Amino acid sequence: MSDIKKLPDWIDPSRLAQTHAQLEGYLSMRAMDVLKQHTEGDLSALNVFCRLNFSVQSKRIICEGQLQADLPLLCQRCLEVMTFRVEKPLSYCFLEPGESDEQIDAAYEALWLEEVPLKLAELLEEELVLSLPFIAKHEQCPSLSDEIAEILIESEDIPAPEPEMDEAPKPNPFAALDQLK
Ligand SMILES: [Zn+2]
Repeated sequence: MSDIKKLPDWIDPSRLAQTHAQLEGYLSMRAMDVLKQHTEGDLSALNVFCRLNFSVQSKRIICEGQLQADLPLLCQRCLEVMTFRVEKPLSYCFLEPGESDEQIDAAYEALWLEEVPLKLAELLEEELVLSLPFIAKHEQCPSLSDEIAEILIESEDIPAPEPEMDEAPKPNPFAALDQLK
């Protein structure tokens, strides 16, 4: 893994797309202040890894890839720090400011290039914040005895109120919860 490079801090998607550039490497979470508010402890030694493939498809600037990070979260059952693995595919279609996203394939997330270059850490930080579980919990809390854990899990089974649904279906930000079940 020693050949994994640091990703550039700033990227110009249209330039990268013209050369069909592939970026692969890591970025520090040191400066991810929004993410810091949702995680536990020091992020400065932690990295997010990602791979990004830029291309031009039907004259659109496309970026596809994947990110991976291990986030320290506080388990809401035993109140100890746990590691939450985020693995997420990325599919962007970059648009000029004011350009309509009506013709965009639904597989891509439309992103408007309000400022170029783009700060890559901000983009990745947003993806990480969106991947956070609604309530972080160990699958099995290491410090709790089985009986206590069972009582706590039963008490969590009280149904929560239904979240209000918007009219248009959106990607479920709590989908990560399902992976914990
Ligand atoms: Zn726990």
